[in-house]
This record gives sequence, structure tokens and C-alpha cells, in this order.
Amino acid sequence: MLTSGRDILLNEEEKLVKESIKQFAEDKVKPLARKIDAEHYYPTELIPELAELGLLSVFVPSEYGGSGMNNISYSLIIEELATVCASTSVIVSAHNSLAIWPILKFGTTEQKKQYLPLMCTGKSIGCFALSEPGTGSDAARQTCTAKEDGDDFIINGVKNWITNAPVSDVCILLTMEDASKDHKGITAFIVDLKTTEGISIGHKENKLGICGSPTASITFDQVRISKKQLLGERGKGFRVAMETLDGGRIGIAAQACGIASASLNDALRYSTERETFGVKISEHQMIQTYLADMATDLEAARLLTYTAAKMKDEGMQYSKMAAQAKLFSSEVCMRNSHLAVQIHGGYGFVKDFNVERYMRDAKITEIYEGTSEIQRLVIAANLIKEQSN
Ligand SMILES: Cc1cc2nc3c(=O)[nH]c(=O)nc-3n(C[C@H](O)[C@H](O)[C@H](O)COP(=O)(O)OP(=O)(O)OC[C@H]3O[C@@H](n4cnc5c(N)ncnc54)[C@H](O)[C@@H]3O)c2cc1C
Repeated sequence: MLTSGRDILLNEEEKLVKESIKQFAEDKVKPLARKIDAEHYYPTELIPELAELGLLSVFVPSEYGGSGMNNISYSLIIEELATVCASTSVIVSAHNSLAIWPILKFGTTEQKKQYLPLMCTGKSIGCFALSEPGTGSDAARQTCTAKEDGDDFIINGVKNWITNAPVSDVCILLTMEDASKDHKGITAFIVDLKTTEGISIGHKENKLGICGSPTASITFDQVRISKKQLLGERGKGFRVAMETLDGGRIGIAAQACGIASASLNDALRYSTERETFGVKISEHQMIQTYLADMATDLEAARLLTYTAAKMKDEGMQYSKMAAQAKLFSSEVCMRNSHLAVQIHGGYGFVKDFNVERYMRDAKITEIYEGTSEIQRLVIAANLIKEQSN
């Protein structure tokens, strides 16, 4: 097993989390990973086991039935799952960081009591609906509308690319109440997807990677929801969305580390087995350069990721570090998976080996929860703000 400098950052409890999740991932998730990818299969049978281990309630305190872990543990969980199956890691990260976390942070006590216990058991899965067909990076331009009507709101519009939408019961929904106020017109809601009239889920997207993570649009047609479903204050939804994404980015960085780590492991193993010109290919200096760069980049990506997680745990400002972790780790993930295919030569291009899956799964880490271009904007904006303070 390869050593990692990351481990000196972990306390005994976090090391235990890492070891137990690693074992679970190897024993239970890895055997399903190819099926999940090839058949675009949602691993329903894993959900109760994930819940049993506390992986569907990572941030939730025990009073609501959760496992009450910190962000370092969360990152370890997502990294270990992604090392064997990126799809499973996304199912878990969207549920925890995009659906549960905003309820914990912005929800009322009543909302927490209503939603969290069931979400912790996995009987209720969550999703987060910000993006729209015409609105991704420019998230303030929401066109899904919420109109006040007595004690209710009427919702109309379409949300696009929503991870977990086909399997979700609970949706964190971002809407525009007053477009003239720009991002200050955005309001967030908690929506019961399966029991509210007027909601339809689109077809499952046919994707390049993370094929077992179900992605679909959600259409709201004259959907009536009570004011009790408001998440946070009216007009403060943009803050709900941005703070949720800040934390979510740590999870995507950890996911990227997991895929980058799997790429290195497989490339290293293959390079010590395959021979050309009478020696193992690991003895060619050019291959050694690839391996050294992959390992060094991975270590650097982990340091950024676990630093961002630690900063969140310590209650520090972590928005810039989360963006830096996501930006760097996702680019490392792409490079490592690409080099893993290269090191496998022709065998890297066929599905008998896992590295082609890593390369397909890697790409999304540069796109969702803010593209690499948007991470650079976030980092630069933070730098300029820090400079002027
Ligand atoms: C598999 C998958 C799952 C997803 N899951 C979710 C989910 O659960 N919930 C959700 O709300 N969304 C989700 N998304 C949406 C995702 O977050 C968006 O696709 C992403 O934010 C980019 O938005 P866009 O696709 O509209 O691209 P655009 O915003 O149209 O961007 C197109 C290109 O222009 C670049 N660009 C845009 N603006 C700038 C700028 N100012 N400067 C420089 N370059 C710029 C972008 O970086 C990108 O390269 C998911 C997407 C996918 C593919």
C-alpha cells in the first residue's frame, strides 16, 4: 500500500474512519463498480449499508440520528469511495453536502426534525437544484420562479442536471422571486419531490462518466408549496446556494483525489508487470517521470483538500481554499487518469482495465459545483478582497 503525507494530518478517530471505509469500499463497492459504470446502474443495494455505516448522515448530530463526523472524515469517506467507484462517491456527496448540509445550516428546528432522521437512514435521498437549462455558471440568473400566493408559493420552471433527482425524495430548490433584485431576489425552499403535485423528473442523462450517478432535469408546473418550506430567509437563497457549494467543493476535491489515487495505483501496478525492450516498463525513466509526477501531484491535491476540510472544521473562512482544492485536485485527477491510460498503452483504451473509466469519471470534477474557470474567478475575487482589507 502506498504511503501518504496526508495521514500525519489525521487523528486516531479519523484514521479509523479511513481504514473502515477503505475496507467497506474494497469489499462491497468495488465488486459492483464495473456494473455501475457499464449498465448506468444505481446501486440501490448499497444504500442501507452506506446508511448503517453513517455515510448518509456524515454531518448530522446524533440527536437527529446522524453520525456527527467532521469534514476531514467526510473527505476521507468520499476519497475512499471514489478510489473504487466515483459514481457511488457522488451519490453520497450530493446527499450529504448539497442536501443535508443546507438543512442543517439554514433550516428551522422543525425542518431538521422533519427531514434529517429519514435522510440519515437513506430512506429519503436528497438533491440540490440550482442549475437550469440556460443557467449554470451564472447562477444568479435564475428563471425558475416563486410567486407568493397567500400562505403558499407557486413554483414554475425547469432545473437541469440534478444529481440524484431520479431517486430523491427531498430537493433543495433555488428560485427567483424578484428578478429586478438580481441575486437578492433568490429564495431557497425544501421541496418534497415525490408527494408534491406538478413536479416531473426528466429522463436519466446518458453521460460520459459517473454513469451510475443518476442525473435528470426537474420540471415545476404550477407547484404549490407552503411558506413552511422556505429554507432560510426570502431573498437570501443565493447565500444558501453559495455556502452550500463552498462545502460541496471540498467533497468534489476529495472525489478527484480518489480517482487520481486509483489512477496512480493501477498505473504503478501495471508498470511493474508489463515488459518492453527486455525490462519492466517501470524501469524506463520516462514512465518513472510519469509515476513521480502523478504521486507528487496527488499528495499536493490531498494537502489542499484536507487543509480546506480542516479550515471548515475549525470554523475558519474556507471559500478560497475549497475553490483552490477543487481546482487543483480536479486538474490533477484529469492528468493522472490520462497518464494511467498512457502507461497502459493499448490496454488502457479498452474496458478490460479500469483506467479508461477513471479518465471518463475524472472529467466531471472539472465541471460540476463550479467549473475550473469559475474556481479561478472565486480564488481571484478572494485574493483581491484580502489585498484590500
Ligand atoms: C453530471 C452533472 C451533474 C450535475 N449536478 C448538479 C446538481 O446536482 N445540481 C445543480 O444545480 N447543478 C448540477 N450540475 C450542473 C453544473 O454545476 C453545471 O453544468 C456547471 O456549473 C456549468 O454550468 P453550464 O453547464 O451551464 O456551463 P456554462 O455556465 O454555460 O459554461 C460554459 C463554459 O463557459 C465557461 N464560463 C462561463 N462563465 C465564465 C466566466 N465568467 N469566465 C470564464 N469562463 C466562463 C465555463 O467555465 C464553461 O467552460 C451538474 C452537471 C453535470 C454535468
